[in-house]
Amino acid sequence: MDKIITEDEQKAAVKTLERLISVPSYNQQAEDGAPFGRGIRNALDEMMKICDELGFKTYEDPDGYYGYAEVGSGDKLFGIICHLDTVPAGDLGKWQHNPFKGTVIDNAVYGRGSQDDKGPGIAALYAVKALMDQGYHFNQRIRFIYGTDEEILWRGIAEYNKKEAPIDSGISPDAEFPLIYAEKGLQQSYLVGPGTNQLKLKLKNAFNAVPDSAVYDGPKQDEVKAALDKHGFEYTSDDNSITVIGKSVHAMMAPEGTNAVLRLAIALDDVFDFKPLDFIGKLFKEDATGSNVLGDVHDESGQLTFNISSLEINEDETRMQIDLRIPVTVDRDKLLEKLSKQVAEYDLKYVHFDYLAPLYVPKDSKLVQTLMEVYKEQTGDVDAEPQISGGATFARTMNNCVAFGGMLPTTPDYMHQANEQWPLPDMYKAMEIYAQAIKKLCVD
Ligand SMILES: [Zn+2]
Repeated sequence: MDKIITEDEQKAAVKTLERLISVPSYNQQAEDGAPFGRGIRNALDEMMKICDELGFKTYEDPDGYYGYAEVGSGDKLFGIICHLDTVPAGDLGKWQHNPFKGTVIDNAVYGRGSQDDKGPGIAALYAVKALMDQGYHFNQRIRFIYGTDEEILWRGIAEYNKKEAPIDSGISPDAEFPLIYAEKGLQQSYLVGPGTNQLKLKLKNAFNAVPDSAVYDGPKQDEVKAALDKHGFEYTSDDNSITVIGKSVHAMMAPEGTNAVLRLAIALDDVFDFKPLDFIGKLFKEDATGSNVLGDVHDESGQLTFNISSLEINEDETRMQIDLRIPVTVDRDKLLEKLSKQVAEYDLKYVHFDYLAPLYVPKDSKLVQTLMEVYKEQTGDVDAEPQISGGATFARTMNNCVAFGGMLPTTPDYMHQANEQWPLPDMYKAMEIYAQAIKKLCVD
C-alpha cells in the first residue's frame, strides 16, 4: 500500500510538536480566562494558532475550557479527541534535559507531553493535514477536539460536551495501539458512618491507588501488633507507632496490590469493638474484586475492582474512600443499591462522589473493524486484538469513540515519568496509521 505521509510532513510534525512541548501546560492556579492556569491556556492558544496555520477552521472557547479545529463539510462529525494539559515535570533532577524545551535527542522527541498527549495529537493532526494536501475530499467533517483538564477532573471536555454538538464517531489518540473498545465504568464514592473516641485514624490517600503504607499511632499498640502477627501482615514499628506495609498498584489493578489500609483495619477490628470496622474486618477483608460484598461481578471487560484507599476515624465520623471499576455491561444502579444495603448493616452510608460512564463500542462495529484492519496492515501484527482497559480516556465522553494509539505496544512507556520522549520511528508509524485509518473512514 502506498504511504501517505511524506518525509517533509514527518519533519513538519516534529517541529510543531517541539513548539507545543515548549509551552508548559500542567495544572496551575486559575486565572481569568484560564480556569486551569495560564500555562494550559497558552498551550490552547498555541494549538489554535497551529491549526489555523495548517488550514483548519478553529474555535476557541472564550473561557479557556476547550478548543476545536475542523476540516471538511457535511452533517456528520468525526471527532479526534486529544488533551493539551500534561502532568507536571515532577523531580527535575531526574530529567537529563529540560522537559519544556521540545527537542529531538537520540532520535526521539524529548519533553513533557511528547507521549501524553501532545505527541499523538500532533501525529493525528499531520495525518489529516497530509490527506488535505493530497487533495482528498472528506465525506464528513473531521474535528480535533482539545481538552484542557484531562490529568485532573475532565472539566474542559465536560464543558465541550455541554456546549457543542456531539460527534457521530471518533477516536482518542491517548493510549496504545491497537485500540481500546471497552473501559470500565468508574465510580468513586465515600462510605460514611459514626465516629468513636476509642481510636483515631487519618489514613487519607488518592482514590485511584492501592495504599502501600498505613500508620497507626493510637492506643493498644501491643494488641494491634499481635493481631497483625496473627494474620501474617508485614509491618515495622517504633516506640510511638506501627506502619503496616503493602504494595501499591493503580486502583484498576487493585486485586494485584496489597492494601496496607485494609490490613491495618483488619487488625484494628480484632482489637476494637466498632461496627464500621467490621465492614472491612468481617466482610470485605482483603478481596479487591469486592466479591465478599457484591458477589462475582464480571463480563468480557473483566472483573469488578473495588479499592478502599482511605480510612479516617475520629470522634465525629468514619469515612472511607472507595474506587470501583465496573464492567461495561453491568447495571450500575443495581450494583450500587446492593452496596448501599450491604454497608448499611455496618452503620455506613454510601455517598456518591464522581462517576465516569463506561466506554463500549462492540468489537464487530464498523469503527473497530476498520481501525483494526488498518493497524494490522500497517504493522504486520496480524494477531492483534482490540483491548479492554480499567483506565480512562476521553473516548468514553463521546459517542461511538474508541482510544486508538498513539503508542505502539513496543514503545517504551514514559507517560507521567521523567525523560518523557517519543522515538521518531514510532511517531512516524503512528502518523501513517492515523492517515490510513482516517482515509478509510472519512474519504469516499
Ligand atoms: Zn493522556
